[in-house]
Amino acid sequence: MEKIVEVKNLSFKYGVAEVLKDVTFSIDRGDYVGLGGHNGSGKTTLVKIILGLITPDVGDISVLGKNLKKFKQWSKIGYLPQSLSLFNPIFPATVYEVVSLGLISKKKFPRRITKSDEKIVDNALQELEIIDLKNKLISELSGGQQQRVFLAKALVNEPELLILDEPSNALDSKSRNHFFDLLHDLNKKKGTTIILITHDIGHIGEHANKLLYLDKNIVFYGKLSEFCDSESMEDVFGRESQHLICHQH
Ligand code: ADP
Repeated sequence: MEKIVEVKNLSFKYGVAEVLKDVTFSIDRGDYVGLGGHNGSGKTTLVKIILGLITPDVGDISVLGKNLKKFKQWSKIGYLPQSLSLFNPIFPATVYEVVSLGLISKKKFPRRITKSDEKIVDNALQELEIIDLKNKLISELSGGQQQRVFLAKALVNEPELLILDEPSNALDSKSRNHFFDLLHDLNKKKGTTIILITHDIGHIGEHANKLLYLDKNIVFYGKLSEFCDSESMEDVFGRESQHLICHQH
């Protein structure tokens, strides 16, 4: 099985505070990994390290078969932050402009959008059923629509790995369901590998095939089915919580 992400003996500190300790795991092509853990357990830090945004003190990391220190194909990785967290919602940009930004990162100078780029953007907007919003300002959209615009931006380069933060509960349930249906199709039909940071582990069994549960180090990593059958995980989570996580699986 081809490994998309390989993390070996990763440790990380912010100053003196140890946030990740001796973390080792790998993700295969086509996996859909739910990344769980309580607040402050190191989920975002782990994702930032994989995205090359922060450099670990200790450990070896490879992405798409290449050591992170030499990795350059960033357009093959899509990243979707939690709704609006990295974005000023009154920024005066249209849907089309925001999604085009996804393509610009891949370009060399001069960074211009061509006719064929416009087609790619249109296709992404069509796929996410937001083509009729193309010329609207981002600030005019609902939370669910904005989420889809940012997903389109993350998808224009057809990434092999998509890393995302679960949309906040502020989204209505219809938008959330639609969002998760899109992820499901991407994973199943296009084989896109997904890492989903989840803040509500009770839902993870509905979506992911693997669970990575962090608490500075790895509490559990493996298939959801193994998690659900594991007696040691019943000891850690309690029978009821284990059931809650597993009952949708
Ligand atoms: P999670 O995503 O699981 O909530 P984080 O990776 O964001 O966890 O944070 C892990 C720990 O690192 C927390 O205790 C948090 O307060 C701390 N932390 C996060 N970012 C920084 C930072 N930039 N500087 C110092 N400490 C940080």
